[in-house]
Order: sequence, then structure tokens, then C-alpha cells
Amino acid sequence: MEAEDQQQWKRTFFSELPKVELHAHLNGSISCNTMKKLIAKKPDLKIHDQMTVIDKGKKRTLEECFQMFQIIHQLTTSPEDILMVTKDVIKEFADDGVKYLELRSTPRGDSATGMTKKTYVESVLEGIKQSKQENLDIDVRYLISIDRRGGPSVAKETVKLAEEFFLSTKDTVIGLDLSGDPTAGQAEDFLEPLLEAKKAGLKLALHLSEIPNLKKETQVLLDLLPDRIGHGTFLNSSEGGSLDLVDFVRKHQIPLELCLTSNIKSRTVPSYDQHHFGFWYSIAHPSVICTDDKGVFATHLSQEYQLAAENFNLTPSQVWDLSYESINYIFASDSTRSELKRKWNHLKPKVSCNEVNYF
Ligand SMILES: [Zn+2]
Repeated sequence: MEAEDQQQWKRTFFSELPKVELHAHLNGSISCNTMKKLIAKKPDLKIHDQMTVIDKGKKRTLEECFQMFQIIHQLTTSPEDILMVTKDVIKEFADDGVKYLELRSTPRGDSATGMTKKTYVESVLEGIKQSKQENLDIDVRYLISIDRRGGPSVAKETVKLAEEFFLSTKDTVIGLDLSGDPTAGQAEDFLEPLLEAKKAGLKLALHLSEIPNLKKETQVLLDLLPDRIGHGTFLNSSEGGSLDLVDFVRKHQIPLELCLTSNIKSRTVPSYDQHHFGFWYSIAHPSVICTDDKGVFATHLSQEYQLAAENFNLTPSQVWDLSYESINYIFASDSTRSELKRKWNHLKPKVSCNEVNYF
């Protein structure tokens, strides 16, 4: 195959590959196009698009990334904004071949627009509902996020809200995410609300071991037996990770949500080939490729699969299996899982896995 043809073949392969996205923050997933619409609505803020995206080859510290989210939050302050970004983000994931998406977002109020945490959640749900009515080929669920910066009292309120919507939405709000600046607060602050959520039947996806030297805090969060781990960057590292942590995660078979570009651009991993995906994949641990914040990190899920394949020498059929096995780790019910597997099997003959051996 000519080099150019091969490039084209690769792009088609990764975009046609049906995919599951399990770690996507709503505000971080806003694309440049949507960002332009938001900026045009609020010219007085003097925000320009370069303030909300980290382009190819550029990096920021984790702290700078969290500052970018503060800027984005100034642009999404009304229920209309949240509805628009939800619909746009869902459409973009669908266009990228994502068939099942779990979006996560922290409910926010805004006194100027009258948005409350409740209307925030309702706007996300309305976006999901309208996307469904438009017959997009994507099944979308919502994980309500606890931002660590809010501390335990806000976390408790968030869990209450999540429980309400868990009961009223019939399988759309299905879990809880713990995220935000990993240096904010202590894991202990969130144990009570997280346990409460677990008891109520909500699934838990916890960001943990995102920065070095948090061994004690990581173990505290792992003891909750989360249903999935976000990043887990330093679990297997000499900087604050340990064999005990790795053994614990393996013993309990807790799936990891791994976001390559996010970790490179926010400087917690030095290069793609050193990403911890390599370690977990080599021991056949449940691992799911995700984007984290496709807008901020200027990526998309097809590209993340391609990066994983190229850096870790995966064959097309290994890439297929990676995507297919991700279905096992979704938070939705067994019937959704079976439905997705049927869809994957139906699409398999169309995605030519055997054309080349390696990427
Ligand atoms: Zn995240």
C-alpha cells in the first residue's frame, strides 16, 4: 500500500471502528466550533479561542489546565448554553463513531442567569433527549460529578441531587464521578457521600492517582471499590505508586479509563510511548481508551485509538478487541451491553481488520 493510501486507510479504520467513550467531561469536550458560538454570545468577557484549547505539540501544567476550565465555565452559565453544548458534544462524538457515551459534568448554579444545579442537570438531560429524538446513532448516559474543590458539604448535596435523578430518569443518570483539582481537599472528605451514593445504587468512577505521591489517599479511595478508575497514572509508578496498589486493582479487576493525549498535554506523563496504557495492556487488565476533554486537548476518540495502536504496536484486530471489550465496563444495564455487542458484531465485517498487520 502506498504511504498516502495507508494514511487514508488508517483514518477510515479508526473512524469507522465503533467505539465506547466512558470518560468525557462535558465542558472540557466543547469543540472549537461550539466555543466560537459561546464566545460570540459573551463578547464582554474578551475570551478568545486560544484560551480554551491546547493545540498540537503544546503542553500546560495540570494547574494551568484547571485554570482553563474556569475560563470555559464563564462561557457556559445558562441552561441554554448547557443545552447547546450537550447537543453539540453528543453530535461530535456520534460523528466520530462513538456508539455509547457516558458524559460527566458537575452541576453548577449561576445567580446572574438564574441557573440552578437542578436546572443544569435538567439541561444536560434535555440535550440527551433531543439528540435521541434526532435519531443519532449513539446511546448517552450522564454521570454527575463531584468537584473536589467544593468539599464535603457540596459533595453531599451533589449526591442527593444524583440520587433524585437516578430515581427519576430511568437509566440516564447512572453514576457519580469524583474529579477536579487532585490537590484540593482530602479523600477522607468524600468517603461519606461516596458511600451513600454507592448504597443508593449509583456507580462510582473516581479520578485517582493522577499526580505523584498520593499512595495513602489512593488506597483510601480504592477501599471504596470504585466501579472504574479515572487515569490511575501513578498506581504503577515509582513516584507514589506501589505493587500493593497494582495488586489491589488487579485483584478486584477495576477497569481503568485511560486518556493518552490528556496526560501528555497536562504533563503528568512525559511521552506517548511511556503512557501507563502500555503497562496495563501488557498484563491484560481491563483498560478503556477515552478522551477526558476532547475540546481542551484538541483530540477525538478515533485519534486516541490510533495513538494507542501506533505507540504500542497493536494490530487492527487487537484494536477491535480493545473497543469491543470496553462494552463490558459501561455503567448501563446488561441489556444495553448485549445490544452494543450485537451492534459491534454486525459492523465487524464492514471494518476491515485484516488488511494490514500493524499500524
Ligand atoms: Zn477526567
